[in-house]
Amino acid sequence: MNYEKKFSKVAKTAKASIIRELLKVASEPETISFGGGVPDPETFPREELGEIAAKIVKEEYKITLQYGPTEGDNELKNAYINLLKKHEGIEGVSPENMLITVGSQQALQLIGLALLDEDSYCAVGKPVYLGAVSAFRQMFPKFMEIPLEDDGMNVDILEEKLEELVTKGEIDKFKFVYVVPTFQNPAGVTMSLEKRKKLINLAHKYDFLILEDDPYGSLRFEGEPIPSIYSLDPERTVLLNTFSKILCPGLRIGIIVASKDLLRKLTILKQGVDLCTPSLTQRLAARYLQAHDRIEQLKPTLELYKSKKDTMLKALEEEFGDMQGVSWTRPEGGLFIWLTFPEWVDTMEMFEEAKKNKVLYVPGEAFYVNEVEKNHMRLSFCLPSHEEIKEGIRRLRKVAENYVNA
Ligand code: PMP
Repeated sequence: MNYEKKFSKVAKTAKASIIRELLKVASEPETISFGGGVPDPETFPREELGEIAAKIVKEEYKITLQYGPTEGDNELKNAYINLLKKHEGIEGVSPENMLITVGSQQALQLIGLALLDEDSYCAVGKPVYLGAVSAFRQMFPKFMEIPLEDDGMNVDILEEKLEELVTKGEIDKFKFVYVVPTFQNPAGVTMSLEKRKKLINLAHKYDFLILEDDPYGSLRFEGEPIPSIYSLDPERTVLLNTFSKILCPGLRIGIIVASKDLLRKLTILKQGVDLCTPSLTQRLAARYLQAHDRIEQLKPTLELYKSKKDTMLKALEEEFGDMQGVSWTRPEGGLFIWLTFPEWVDTMEMFEEAKKNKVLYVPGEAFYVNEVEKNHMRLSFCLPSHEEIKEGIRRLRKVAENYVNA
C-alpha cells in the first residue's frame, strides 16, 4: 500500500519532534542528559495517588469508569479554582470559564482549530515552544516570529509587524500572540510587567487574543512573582495551564481558562477529537488537590531545582566563562537554561560529538519556525544530580572545543 498517495496535507507536512527522537537515546547508560523537560519522578506523590486511584475506582466507578462531560470534571475545576485564588490571586473564575483538556498540548491544538485558517496570522516567540508550533501548523497559518529578549518578547518589533499588516490591509487576519511569559520554554526567560502591559495595550489596539501558556509559573524558586497576563486582562487572554509540571505529566491534564464564548466552540471541537478527557485521571487529580496544597508541597522540590540550577550556572561559568562569544540565560524558575554560541556554530552538527562524549542537550534549531538559528542549545537542569551536572558541563566544554577545533 502506498500511503504517501493517501496522506493528507497535514500528515505530509507533519514533522517528528526532535526532542522526542532525542529522548530515545537518553536512556543509554552513562549518558548525562540535559535534554527532556521532564520533572523528577521522585517528586510524584505515587503512594498517595495509588491509594486514591484504588479508592475512586472502587467507590466512584460510576464516574471514574464512565464517559464524562466534554467540559471536564467539576470537582477538578473547583479544586483548580481554589489553587488559582490562593496562589495566583486570581478571583472570579467559575467552572463555566474552564475546559479540561488532555494536557495543555490538546488545548493548543483546539485553539489552533478554533482560530486559525490558512490565511491567518499568529505571532510566536523566536525561539518558541515547538509543541505549540506543531499544533498550530496543522492549520497552515502564517507565523510571525518575534525575537525574544532577556525580559521576554520584543513587543516593539511585534508592533512594527502589526503595523505592516495594517498597511497591507490584513490586520483582520491576525488572530493571536502565543507567549510563555514565565520561565519560557526553551529560553527560561520571563516577560517583564511593562512588556505584559504593552502586549495587552497592543491586543486592544489591534484587536487580537493573547494566548498565555503557563506551565512553569508555579516553579519560581527566586525573585518576585510577576502578575500573569490573564490576571491583568481576563477578557483578552486565554490562559493555558497544566498539571504536568506541578503534579505529574502522566495524568495528561490541562486547563483552559477563557471567556465562555470561546470555550463553547472549543468544547464542540473537542467532542470531535476525543469526546472527553479521561474521567479517571481528572477525579484522581481532584481528590488529590482537595486533600493537599500542592503548591506548598512543591517547596522542597523547588529548593532542589534551584540548587541544581545554581550548580549548572556555576559549572557554565567555570567551563565556558573564558570561551569567546558564549552566553547563557539565568532563570529564576522553570526547568531550562538557554546557551548561545557564536553565530557560526551549529549545535545540531555538534550533537554527534556530544553523543560520542555521552552528554545530551536539545539543539536550538528545534525551537524556530522559519528563520532558524543554529547556535543555541537548551539545557534542562532538573533531572541530573549535582555531580552529573558538573560532569555533563565539563563534557560539553570538551565537545564544544573539539567542534571548534575540528
Ligand atoms: N506548553 C509548554 C510551554 C510546555 O513546555 C509544555 C510541556 N513541555 C506544554 C505546553 C505541554 O504540556 P502538557 O504536558 O500539559 O501537554
